[in-house]
Amino acid sequence: MTPTVHFDIATLFVTQALVCLIFALVLYILAKRFPDVRGPMQLAQGFFVGIVALCFFLLRGFMPLTVSVLFGNGLLWVTYLLLYAGGAALIGFRPRLLFPAIIAALSLLPMAYFTIFHNLISIRTIIVSITGVLIQINLFVDLVRHRHRGVVVQSLTVFVGMSMVGDAVRGIVTAIRGVPPNIFQNDVAQSLHLLVGLISACGVGVFSMALIAREITASIERSARRDALTGALNRLGIEELLAIEMERARRTFVPLSVALLDIDHFKAFNDTGGHATGDEVLRNIAGAISHQLRTFDACGRIGGDEFLVVLPGSSALDIAAVCNRILREVASLPPHAPSGIAPTVSIGFTQADVYDTVVDLLARADRALYAAKNQGRNCAQMELAPLRTEPLEAPSAPKPIRRSRMRRSASSMRDFQS
Ligand code: GH3
Ligand code: MG
Repeated sequence: MTPTVHFDIATLFVTQALVCLIFALVLYILAKRFPDVRGPMQLAQGFFVGIVALCFFLLRGFMPLTVSVLFGNGLLWVTYLLLYAGGAALIGFRPRLLFPAIIAALSLLPMAYFTIFHNLISIRTIIVSITGVLIQINLFVDLVRHRHRGVVVQSLTVFVGMSMVGDAVRGIVTAIRGVPPNIFQNDVAQSLHLLVGLISACGVGVFSMALIAREITASIERSARRDALTGALNRLGIEELLAIEMERARRTFVPLSVALLDIDHFKAFNDTGGHATGDEVLRNIAGAISHQLRTFDACGRIGGDEFLVVLPGSSALDIAAVCNRILREVASLPPHAPSGIAPTVSIGFTQADVYDTVVDLLARADRALYAAKNQGRNCAQMELAPLRTEPLEAPSAPKPIRRSRMRRSASSMRDFQS
């Protein structure tokens, strides 16, 4: 007996609905689990709406034809729009939804006419095919524009293109030889069209999830560099950024300055109001510092009550003005309720020298900070790199930051000062 493969129309519809259900559920769970990642919820809604659309097709015969045709196709087009919006949010561009939305709305009119007044399935199939192509064209063009974003976006483009070609071929075949009067009647063109739709849905679902995985990884990497309490960068984040900025400053001879800030008598807040009070003071001070920085400056919490501020493109003179503004803003914070103490900070700042390593730079800022503490706190002190008389050599490659070295160097300076 020769084995034969049947692509039965109803089976293909049901398979598509099951595939949509799986993607909808997984995408919904991802959207709930990772609310920071934009896009999965619209994609999940798109697949859910797709299932409802398929149900309207499958239940033809159990409801008036007009309802099945208009709701089935209308919801299918809503699916396209939601998938477009979700994909755009994930990749990071603004979807141009107006044109496909107008096409979808306008197509419903002739669809209603050729169902209610003249029940012509061939004309309806041609309208659906043309609408399918037009509705996906903006998405396809946007994906082509963003193809440089990598193989995942390129693969998505292929599957959307495949879906459009499937629609176009179906329209042409229908115009040439028509379609059977019943959509469930076995027909090679209809079966192939549904098969292409199934493969496209799988491709769009799988590669959307690959994009989501990439976004989740990026978001986890971002949060690994953030201090959860204050929202500033954490030690890892600010150290990485400082190393990059020092290398850039060395290459471009653009000035770079840093400031170390330590809250004065911070223990008193913890002792009088408890840890929660101390935490609130930390958040307020971090907010006051960030408020005085430009968008390309950075602030990181590098220890309990210690912050590091990196100002690319700023000389010691510039950073002196920034430090004064921070001192003023912190001084304007109201005294803390349970303790009645007004928070202040001490600041040590310096400008990077071409010979500096990260350790040298931070040790200098640390010495300046301790000078500020010794001056009676609530002030800023500067220490510049010593003038060098030896000829300028090509700057050496930056040394990787070794936290233990940096801490040791900073704390030994502290011991020396005290
Ligand atoms: P000084 O003016 O010399 O800096 O005095 P200080 O009291 O601020 O001394 P120090 O900077 O050494 O105090 C740091 C304290 O910060 C010690 C620790 O209990 C507290 N601390 C560290 N991390 C946290 C945190 O996440 N939350 C709170 N509330 N306290 C913290
Ligand atoms: Mg302190």
